[in-house]
Amino acid sequence: MTESASDLDDKAAALICAAVYVLRAEGECYSCKKATPMFALMALPPIKHEGFEEAGDEDDCMFREITEMPANLLEAIKASSGPCFRPDHSRTAASSYWMNHCAHCDARQGDFFVHGPEGPFWPYDEAQMDAIHATRFDGPFRFLDPNTAYSGAMVDWRDRKHGVERPKPKAPAGRKKRNPKVRV
Ligand SMILES: [Zn+2]
Repeated sequence: MTESASDLDDKAAALICAAVYVLRAEGECYSCKKATPMFALMALPPIKHEGFEEAGDEDDCMFREITEMPANLLEAIKASSGPCFRPDHSRTAASSYWMNHCAHCDARQGDFFVHGPEGPFWPYDEAQMDAIHATRFDGPFRFLDPNTAYSGAMVDWRDRKHGVERPKPKAPAGRKKRNPKVRV
């Protein structure tokens, strides 16, 4: 079999963003159930995808499963997050990426969990929004093979932080609310 052009298309274009937020919030280790800091990265505009003329979608801003941290961001990440956020292998993702680890038991906290509805980066109310701390680093930063996702909750968090007012769509009826977290 010969390599076809479509194999090359599978690789995502590099993403270049002007700055990032390194986000920190306390989550609950799924293994030992203790509170532990968790980290995530948000791209800040302008966002560009290499090889594309138009600007990238600034709401498609939450990095997931970062395989290659930009070299000019590496030291800042290490300094702000410490050893709990580091590359590790994920069986689920069948690859290595920058993953959160519990500060108490070192259990891996996969991005599927950290960014999901039970994780700290899915705020449901103002108190949970306030519990997410952001440190801004100015780039530009170039992410190879980027994997970004839209998160309505985190776009709301960003807009609120930046004082952006948008007309609110009518809230869907019967939105499921998570039970308030127990803080120890
Ligand atoms: Zn733990």
